[in-house]
Amino acid sequence: MVKGDPELLGDHLGVFTARSTESKITKITQDGGIVSAVMIYGLEEGLFDGVIAAVADPDDTEEPWKPRPVVITDPDEVLEAAGTKYTYCPNVSVLKEAVRSYGCEKVAMVGTPCQIRAVRKAQFCPIGMRHVPDKIELLIGIICMENFPYEGMKTIIEQLCGVWVREVAKMDIGKGKFWVYTKDGEVKSIPINETHPFEGEPCHVCTDYCAELSDLTAGSVGSPDGWSTVIVRTEKAKGILDDMVDQGLLEVKSIEEVKPGLGLVQKLAQVKKDKNQKEIEERKELGLPEPGKVHESL
Ligand SMILES: Cc1cc2nc3c(=O)[nH]c(=O)nc-3n(C[C@H](O)[C@H](O)[C@H](O)COP(=O)(O)OP(=O)(O)OC[C@H]3O[C@@H](n4cnc5c(N)ncnc54)[C@H](O)[C@@H]3O)c2cc1C
Ligand code: SF4
Repeated sequence: MVKGDPELLGDHLGVFTARSTESKITKITQDGGIVSAVMIYGLEEGLFDGVIAAVADPDDTEEPWKPRPVVITDPDEVLEAAGTKYTYCPNVSVLKEAVRSYGCEKVAMVGTPCQIRAVRKAQFCPIGMRHVPDKIELLIGIICMENFPYEGMKTIIEQLCGVWVREVAKMDIGKGKFWVYTKDGEVKSIPINETHPFEGEPCHVCTDYCAELSDLTAGSVGSPDGWSTVIVRTEKAKGILDDMVDQGLLEVKSIEEVKPGLGLVQKLAQVKKDKNQKEIEERKELGLPEPGKVHESL
């Protein structure tokens, strides 16, 4: 496995590009289906007894594409959560429920870098999370440059892309654009710059692009369409991925063999760190709240 710069990607054992070999997975998932494939495999093999993911109902007449966090215990239900929703979904909020209500002892969770950080903090200092930290089996991070509040995402889709949100089959960010694929097979896109005003405020002080504290990270950047860039960080994650490859469930290539490759992942990680660190410094100068700083009154 190729290794990149830990300053940009976080500590890791290696990076590769991969996709699920099962078309029933890849025809639904966002990219190479790594997140869903790992969850299905883990539940089937008894490595996990619950996985936490984000489910939306595009046919919901009130709020289609508004995700809610769910605890999934049946591998057949994992694909109901597949696909990226470019809005917040509080996956961490059901972690306690997974343990206390569902009785899970080996939980896997997918999350944005900020969510993975929140869980690691809870493991380190489990105030209000008693009995939960040792039940977390695997944290699957997703690469994340930005996110949008639900109304912001809806405005991007409906007002900028000109598509009713209930007509959306898939959304994506890539090649400098926000893409919307409709249920009728239409494709609309707008330059990503036009979406910046709708970004969530916390995303402007977030310097973690690659979910640096996860066990493994998956993203689209760096890999060809339909494939995922996978950053493996822990021996536990490596063991699961190796077993999946041995069983023919994953197809893997060196990240050096594909374009645009690891260079783009690292370039964008650097862009996010530089841009948002500058914002943090500006906030410090103005005495505004900054990430990681505990208020003096506490
Ligand atoms: C807000 C956001 C921003 C992203 N930005 C980038 C980026 O800049 N560059 C990049 O390379 N990749 C980005 N991704 C990741 C990318 O879109 C895919 O999620 C990733 O490549 C995994 O693909 P997959 O085929 O393995 O996922 P799938 O197998 O389809 O699984 C995706 C999993 O993510 C969960 N999920 C979906 N939306 C959310 C959400 N909002 N919050 C928490 N969990 C969710 C789903 O429930 C599902 O389990 C982003 C994802 C999100 C949610
Ligand atoms: S940019 Fe950072 S704060 Fe915003 S959703 Fe992604 S990981 Fe969370």
